Amino acid sequence: MCLGHWSVSAIESAKVAAGIAQGLKFGQSPEMRNVVILGATGSIGRSARTVARSMPDRMRIVGMSAHNNAEALAEASIEFPEARTIVSGGEGGQERLVELATMPEADLVLVAIVGTAGLQPALAAIEAGKDLAVASKEILVMAGEIVMDAARQKGVNILPVDSEHSAIFQCLGGRDAGSVRRLVLTCSGGPFRQTPAEQLASVTPDMALRHPTWSMGRKITIDSATLFNKALEMIEARWLFDVGLERIDVVVHPQSIVHSMVEFVDHSILAQLGESDMCLPIQCAVTWPARLPNSMRPLDFASMGRLDFESPRCEDFPALDLARCAGEGGGAMPAVLNAANEVAVEAFLAGRLPFPGIWRVVADVMDACPHVDHPSLEELLAVDADARRLAEGLVG
Ligand code: NDP
Repeated sequence: MCLGHWSVSAIESAKVAAGIAQGLKFGQSPEMRNVVILGATGSIGRSARTVARSMPDRMRIVGMSAHNNAEALAEASIEFPEARTIVSGGEGGQERLVELATMPEADLVLVAIVGTAGLQPALAAIEAGKDLAVASKEILVMAGEIVMDAARQKGVNILPVDSEHSAIFQCLGGRDAGSVRRLVLTCSGGPFRQTPAEQLASVTPDMALRHPTWSMGRKITIDSATLFNKALEMIEARWLFDVGLERIDVVVHPQSIVHSMVEFVDHSILAQLGESDMCLPIQCAVTWPARLPNSMRPLDFASMGRLDFESPRCEDFPALDLARCAGEGGGAMPAVLNAANEVAVEAFLAGRLPFPGIWRVVADVMDACPHVDHPSLEELLAVDADARRLAEGLVG
């Protein structure tokens, strides 16, 4: 399936991901960031509000969205009364998200919506000249080429919030893809790291929702259990840092202390370490390129004791191989993988699909979908809809 090639100019896209598209340099920082949070009531949205609370002179929330949870949004707006709020569920939700993401006073939009519903608002924000802080890896998996191209053309920064990508971003420190030998994404291994393969069929949603090291939303927690989270992150990293999938490795690191690493061409490896707390990558994205003190718990090496690393069980957890297959094929296949996975995760959570069925549905939908090279946004949306329909059929 290795058909496509990637068209984004290496140096330009590395500049976008390194945040130097607007001429910012390490050690230099805009003082106050006016931030819109898409998905303010979710796990990342809550952490973003915590960050805003802790540095009111650096982060002002000017807009917040929820999808259905109007009550949680109303609570949030008691604390941030200046922020405009919208609920995106129901008719016209996408238009309301686009309006929020492009409001004139915003200069940074944090996309923290689960799934791909943040794609069009993210593109609208770029078009309006806003920087993006991206937690929603699904939008880069689905349309990474389009998002990075748009950011390059507009000269806006794409700042990663996913902890692994924030780690890589921090290790890169503005260096481009030419200095990288490989990126090493760390992976906790999820709750079934040591579960024998034959027991995976009896995994229930409750069991899969118990992540050993991170507290997150339901979808990403299931993705962490199947390793689809790491699969999506490989493709996300490919776009953010313009490094081909053949130079992106995954290593299981159960303690989730090393958030990811960069091996440079001279074989020197830089790693970023810290507690499992999403406030740090959010803070990094908001204050970048400055580093500010905060009240997070410092790492205590003596009590940590040891850091373990092992290979992922690719045969029992086929998500990583599916991502390589989708990513190397290029084109629309990552969008197919992502859409099929979203449907399969929902079906698993609703008790309509056994745990290993998630991998099976994704693999079958990928087999059934034709290759589309360099898809336009309209083609991607059509592919996404087709893949969802196929996946629903398989689940049903
Ligand atoms: P949650 O499920 O906790 O929150 C999702 C947020 O998005 C909520 O505000 C929700 O609103 C809103 N939302 C849900 N569906 C839609 C929709 N169709 N349209 C618009 N808004 C919607 O998710 P997380 O915070 O865990 O994850 C958000 C994103 O960040 C995901 O892409 C995830 O992969 C990524 N991420 C998350 C991490 C984490 O630690 N949680 C770590 C790294 C990345 P409402 O509350 O009203 O339903």
